[in-house]
Amino acid sequence: MAKLLLFDTLKGYALRYAWNREKISKRPVLLRYVIPVAAALITTWVVMVPLNFFSMYAPFLAYFGVIFFSACYGGSRSALVASIVSAVCVVVFIRHKHQLHGGGIFSLLIVFFLIQALMITALFAVIEVVQKQSRTSEETFRGIVEKSAEGFLMANQDGVMSYVCLSVQQILGYQPHELLGTPITALIHPDEIKAFNIRFLKILLKDGQSMSFLQRLKNKQGEWQWIEGCVNNMLKNPNIRHIVFNYRNVTERINQTKQQEDFVHMAAHELKTPITALRGYLQLMQLYHLKEGRDKDNEMLDRMNKQTDRLLNLIDEMLNVTRIRAGELLYHFGLFDLNETVRDVVDAFKATATTHHISLVTQPIPPVNGDKDRISQVLTNLIGNAIKYAPDGPDIAVKVTTEGPDVVIKVKDHGIGIPKEQQKKIFDRFYRSESLPKNTYQGLGLGLYIAMDIVKKHHGKMGVESDAGKGAEFWFSLPLNG
Ligand code: ADP
Repeated sequence: MAKLLLFDTLKGYALRYAWNREKISKRPVLLRYVIPVAAALITTWVVMVPLNFFSMYAPFLAYFGVIFFSACYGGSRSALVASIVSAVCVVVFIRHKHQLHGGGIFSLLIVFFLIQALMITALFAVIEVVQKQSRTSEETFRGIVEKSAEGFLMANQDGVMSYVCLSVQQILGYQPHELLGTPITALIHPDEIKAFNIRFLKILLKDGQSMSFLQRLKNKQGEWQWIEGCVNNMLKNPNIRHIVFNYRNVTERINQTKQQEDFVHMAAHELKTPITALRGYLQLMQLYHLKEGRDKDNEMLDRMNKQTDRLLNLIDEMLNVTRIRAGELLYHFGLFDLNETVRDVVDAFKATATTHHISLVTQPIPPVNGDKDRISQVLTNLIGNAIKYAPDGPDIAVKVTTEGPDVVIKVKDHGIGIPKEQQKKIFDRFYRSESLPKNTYQGLGLGLYIAMDIVKKHHGKMGVESDAGKGAEFWFSLPLNG
């Protein structure tokens, strides 16, 4: 391990400093040729002084050193110059000093030396070509990244930024160098640092893991900007070895959405007050008419009542969604009897839904910790949907069972069902099945979104088993020890 580490360090050092093309290209051209010549001559002088202490092979080793040094200093052309000058020096000076005139071994050594020197030069030339190619593709890639409207940055495993592309200027107003060496958390809104750290830790745990994020970051002017993007763990990728972020500024979009949501919330709130008053008067009128036995009027009032109830439900859904988005949906947690709550909801439906038969199966369970009214709201939505989307399937089955540490509530109908590919999307905000015939089933596509949020707040899960035309079984679970 230590050996490997040492090898890696040395290799890194050699590549960065000894064979650094950028450094080589910055050196004056003249020096790139003069230095190898000088190095070969100095080496000749050095090896000739203590003549008697050197064997005749020693100068060759020294000249290989000169060739390597020249290659690192000036590239493959310098290495070639060093090889030729070294060979000449060997023939002219060393041969003469060692008095090796006409020696067959010496001639062989010279040839061998030249071949080796040329091979080394060729090797460096190949490295040069490969480096040039990889530099060209790196420059192309860098050019694309730098010009992209998306931001792109790399951080180490401590979240400290080590590369920031130029587009950060447009996105957050900083110059890239101002951010290098800074931890990303220094830019993140204080309320979101904890969530960011948890997400970052999850990313670190798995190689290749990627996650999307939406976060407030401080720009150069000190304003908070909504930044959306994706983070990828590329620590094990040998060419990257970093956590990579790509991001964009979505502040304008978020502000617009927020304005729309504020408007919907305000409008729904304003509408709710007069409609609630209207329903009160209607119920009062219904009471008078009932006393006087005016059945025809009563029937009409009954219908009006149902329509105002529907209106109020829609308004409540809109208010709930805007509250969920703002994190303002209130919960009153406490222990309650889930079987009783389910029975109450089922009984309420039995009293009004004359077209369907709702059966209920329960089993004894300990009290559940949660918000009783919100759980009723979830079940009301599921049974309401079962009635709405199963106009020709009159039987609806509600079941309360325990599964491991959870209690599971199931609502099964025999209606139109949901195609497999749409089953994940139906829990999204405003999503309504694409296969629904137009104007047949009314709704806003908010009920399941709200239900899912409520179940999640109870640390439960929610899902559906269904197929197109084969009915649907919605279920949600709540932890019994929650
Ligand atoms: P809404 O019913 O108001 O459209 P929901 O969020 O309650 O909104 O439901 C979302 C969509 O899921 C519905 O539009 C419908 O396409 C599908 N869906 C929900 N419940 C059922 C069901 N029991 N059977 C078939 N489709 C359903």
